[in-house]
Amino acid sequence: MAVLDQLSASLGADKVLTDEASLQSRRHDYWFLSALNEFQGRNVPTPLCIVRPINVDDVVAAVNICREAGVALITFGLGSGVCGGVIAAPESVLLDMSSMDSVRDIDPINMLASFDAGHNGGAAEAAVAKKGMTIGNFPQSIDLSTVGGWVATRASGQFSSVYGNTEDIVYSIEAVMPDGSVVNFGKAPRASAGPDLRHLMLGSEGTLGVITGVTFSLRRQAEKRVSQSFYAPDMITGLEAQRQIVQQDWAVPVMRLYDEVESARQAGDHHRDGYSVLMLVHEGPASRVDLEVGEVRAIALEAGLEEAPAAITEGWLEHRNHVPSWEDLLSKGLVVDTIEISAPWTRIGDVYNEAVAALKSVPHNLFGSAHSSHVYRSGINLYFTFVAQPADETEMAQTYLASWNAVLEATAANGGGIAHHHGIGRVRKNHLAADLGDTGVAVLRAVKSALDPEGIMNPGVLLPDA
Ligand SMILES: Cc1cc2nc3c(=O)[nH]c(=O)nc-3n(C[C@H](O)[C@H](O)[C@H](O)COP(=O)(O)OP(=O)(O)OC[C@H]3O[C@@H](n4cnc5c(N)ncnc54)[C@H](O)[C@@H]3O)c2cc1C
Repeated sequence: MAVLDQLSASLGADKVLTDEASLQSRRHDYWFLSALNEFQGRNVPTPLCIVRPINVDDVVAAVNICREAGVALITFGLGSGVCGGVIAAPESVLLDMSSMDSVRDIDPINMLASFDAGHNGGAAEAAVAKKGMTIGNFPQSIDLSTVGGWVATRASGQFSSVYGNTEDIVYSIEAVMPDGSVVNFGKAPRASAGPDLRHLMLGSEGTLGVITGVTFSLRRQAEKRVSQSFYAPDMITGLEAQRQIVQQDWAVPVMRLYDEVESARQAGDHHRDGYSVLMLVHEGPASRVDLEVGEVRAIALEAGLEEAPAAITEGWLEHRNHVPSWEDLLSKGLVVDTIEISAPWTRIGDVYNEAVAALKSVPHNLFGSAHSSHVYRSGINLYFTFVAQPADETEMAQTYLASWNAVLEATAANGGGIAHHHGIGRVRKNHLAADLGDTGVAVLRAVKSALDPEGIMNPGVLLPDA
């Protein structure tokens, strides 16, 4: 029996979509290059079908049918990934997990919440917020992404500097492996039971199995929130102030430093020419926040920053999830993207200077800028933005890839890690050895071929081309 017939017979025909609108709507994620291909009228393939599971048994059946037929299975959350983690191949089966979206349990005593992996991130946060708790993971795409997608890409939220990234918040993960078996990784608050197998799924990008359920360790909602802002004479001074704050153990969930170019946009009327802007959001128990605001202000002033209106940070909080569409930018002939990396404190200044210089040297570049948004005791991330405008539209794709290469190569050459939170997908896969080393890539290939010997799980993603 053909794969389509097997899927319909096993899961029910209502869960196997082949209509043109459904196939078209899930061909790819939010990767700029896919949007560019579409905009320029290049052929972007559609899958054989979309499968919409409602429970683990449906996922097991789909995995088994695809494996036995040797057909690629591409797992799709809500398609908000920005690295090309989802591109349908013509004969592939696209597993749309957003149909598997129940709240499984919210347990206020152990402060745990379990969801089907296809549950919308914003809806998951709203479900626990009703009970006075928070997951604490606020990616800008919170309403556009699934909790399973967060795990599959190791997503980071805007409040991560205290609440942690996805891997710090996940308690347990349920997944269907490529052989059709169901696993549960993570059983108790902490384990010394061999390697932590949750990390097989964290960042696996659909290549090692299908995540079907996620349990998060929750927090109480904050009692008080206070914003403050500072002007920094330059990025390096602002970075140093953040190092002082985090290494003196103040727990500021949001610390964002925008360089001069990006401050003009972020600070609006409060922008000061030639200055960077540091935004801080403090939250937690009221007495701790009250103490922290003053102590952190003193550190910032001591480090050479000047107080700026809190309205700058409040404005960011209010509008922080607004994003222009690719179509608006493409229609102006612009090639645009953001690239997030991280580096230890001793290297981040060089990464910033050299990556911005490298971006500006790419032909047709209009802007290369950066901000930091996730802070650690040992270092910090940077989030580069580039805008280019080739006169000839046939040069748009090569300008885009040259800009990416410029930032990733400058980062790696200066001791940074090439991917902070958007994952690898297709856009970074041939740079993976810069982080893992050739031996690390070989280990990952060995894991992949042991778990998925038929190579059906999201081929073409994560691992470098052979
Ligand atoms: C406007 C915008 C803002 C963003 N802001 C942030 C941000 O602040 N922080 C951040 O970290 N990211 C951000 N992202 C990126 C993106 O939202 C995250 O990567 C998110 O985790 C993807 O979730 P998704 O459900 O949409 O996954 P998809 O895009 O559907 O899939 C992403 C990858 O994960 C795999 N996958 C998805 N679900 C599963 C599953 N159940 N099992 C196995 N594999 C799976 C897919 O095969 C693919 O490789 C942003 C994206 C956009 C468009």
